[in-house]
Amino acid sequence: MFSRILIANRGEIACRVIRTAQRMGIGTVAVYSDADAHALHVAMADEAVNIGPAPVTDSYLRADHIIASALKTGAEAIHPGYGFLSENPGFVDAVVKAGLVFIGPSADSIRAMGLKDAAKRLMEKAGVPVVPGYHGEAQELVVLASKAREIGYPVLIKARAGGGGKGMRKVDNPDDFAEALGSARREAKSAFGDDRVLVEKYISKPRHIEVQVFGDNHGNVVHLYERDCSLQRRHQKVIEEAPAPGITEEMRAAMTSAAVKAAQAINYSGAGTIEFIVDATEGLQPDRFWFMEMNTRLQVEHPVTEMITGLDLVEWQLRVAAGERLPLAQEHIPLNGHAMEVRLYAEDPAKGFLPAIGTLHHLSFPTAVQEGDVRIETGVRAGDTISPYYDPMIAKIVVHGADRSFALAAMGSALNQTEIAGTTTNAPFLSALIDHQSFATGDVDTGLIDRQLAQLTVPATIQAGMKELAILSASGLLKRPVHGDPWTALRGYAHHGGLAYPVTLEEGGQTTRYDVTVREDERYAIFGPDFSVEVRVRHDRPNWHITGRNINLRAKIVTIPHGIAVLAGRTAAAFKIADPFLMAEQAGSAGDRLTAPMPGLVKSVRAAAGDLVRKGQILLVLEAMKMEHSITAPHDGKIAEIVAENAQVKEQSSLVRFEEAPLNTTTN
Ligand code: ADP
Ligand code: ADP
Ligand code: MG
Repeated sequence: MFSRILIANRGEIACRVIRTAQRMGIGTVAVYSDADAHALHVAMADEAVNIGPAPVTDSYLRADHIIASALKTGAEAIHPGYGFLSENPGFVDAVVKAGLVFIGPSADSIRAMGLKDAAKRLMEKAGVPVVPGYHGEAQELVVLASKAREIGYPVLIKARAGGGGKGMRKVDNPDDFAEALGSARREAKSAFGDDRVLVEKYISKPRHIEVQVFGDNHGNVVHLYERDCSLQRRHQKVIEEAPAPGITEEMRAAMTSAAVKAAQAINYSGAGTIEFIVDATEGLQPDRFWFMEMNTRLQVEHPVTEMITGLDLVEWQLRVAAGERLPLAQEHIPLNGHAMEVRLYAEDPAKGFLPAIGTLHHLSFPTAVQEGDVRIETGVRAGDTISPYYDPMIAKIVVHGADRSFALAAMGSALNQTEIAGTTTNAPFLSALIDHQSFATGDVDTGLIDRQLAQLTVPATIQAGMKELAILSASGLLKRPVHGDPWTALRGYAHHGGLAYPVTLEEGGQTTRYDVTVREDERYAIFGPDFSVEVRVRHDRPNWHITGRNINLRAKIVTIPHGIAVLAGRTAAAFKIADPFLMAEQAGSAGDRLTAPMPGLVKSVRAAAGDLVRKGQILLVLEAMKMEHSITAPHDGKIAEIVAENAQVKEQSSLVRFEEAPLNTTTN
């Protein structure tokens, strides 16, 4: 076995590989870009090497830097993870030439499967069913259009070098063919530098079912059953599960033996996935599945297979790469219960799944669920940032239950217990999917999400009590300790003659003022512009329990820059507080400094170096995320340095520095 390996990847998959290596007593070397210097995978590894600036072409795709890092640190093998260089045969050749081991298949196997057209020709020869279509050399419009007519509409145009659903166009009738071909080609050219395409029959009511295979260097190939990845949007997987709902032993036998045959045809070694498209118009029929492509690497959704087999696929990869035989023979590979994975992303489903960026101010995952087991695969911690440079995946939530209904319930619980504040996520969308009638009954196909999109992306409604909790929290009244002293306990009440605590919320571009008064212990009244409400709030740790007329909510309160997030089960709501004191406090003072709470543009500067300023005075206005934020003095003091107007600032960069001793710190 290797004594030290390098992981040529980042994020959750780098962390995943490091965990297994550590369990096996293998030393680990991480690589990282400038943007990832403080990333989790770097912290977890025994050693880490910087391989360049943030853009992937300057870092994670720099094969030369990665190989040099392995040689320099004494690593004997390189694990590529998925994406990046994992299916690049040129990289594999270079790794081998440097005297290192590539933890994955041979460059020849990758080449054989790298282009969809050649792979399909190869599979046809090996006797594996292939989607009816044209995967020849000719690329002229007239030829392809006549092939499309022969195949019969609808057809699917696919980039032969495609991946991740790019360069793919469904065409419903001959009149649209030329235009679809042009746009598929343009997309393929820019994504893969190769605009050659193939045309195949578009399968109606398609299901995506894939088979996990494993080979070793001694000629053995086994399968580890199937995964159903039919829940997709824009041809990208959203939820994966195993076994495939409704699969019969006959269907499984047909699919797994075709997959093993496919892997054997290219002397496959290591972990691989054979993806099939299945026509499910009349259920799962053993003569209605066809080879789509092979992914010659570990797949994003491999934990689903690990959950039903109890095996560690990364351990198998390491053993096979080190020359060992496959750890288990086919008949000894277990299949227990049902597993499911969702991909949790920083993205906004209501805005066409637009990727979101931001700092994960609060991040908490379940450690256990009643209905089964839960496993979280993530590469980030609370406080980490989702940057625009890489895939905005936050985590994969994986569950296992005795059967599909337990797995579904376990996923529901796991999503309920997942708390994120600081960035928009697809969590509500995932919850809606899990609850969807068709998914719950296993009636899935790749068009389900698109058909139900409107219903699945309804913006989460704010629950009754959320706003009230945010207002109370912003008033500061919830925080103060109650020591049984009646005057403290009843502060703001009789003693202060019903003193009102003002809170200003920014809602839909407007500010609204609310006043809070304390009625008696735990009871408050909130007065808005046109309403008032009385509530009772108790700290039922870690939740707050708020009750009142039409209100009965248990939720967590989390402070985020410029506001307060209220998290209750599957819903999270963020409220923006226009309170200069709170904002100044949250702008964060590192030493005697104010730092930018988020990246932005300095719109105006209202003070200069040498000025004496009063607590609460506006020092500058920062424009970030299309909104203006006033940065105010957290205390009285003298300014030593202040940022220039129109400066573009990064998150956490210094805006204002005060002279050492604040002149007069007020303590109210
Ligand atoms: P498929 O290739 O069948 O779509 P996957 O869903 O596993 O399979 O991955 C989609 C593509 O995007 C693959 O090329 C994969 O390597 C890449 N990819 C997916 N998720 C990530 C991620 N979080 N980071 C980097 N690459 C990713
Ligand atoms: P990629 O390399 O981009 O992952 P695939 O060939 O694996 O490309 O196809 C991605 C997805 O597109 C599949 O999971 C499936 O949902 C859909 N798809 C592919 N081929 C067909 C087809 N012939 N008919 C219908 N849908 C298809
Ligand atoms: Mg695919």
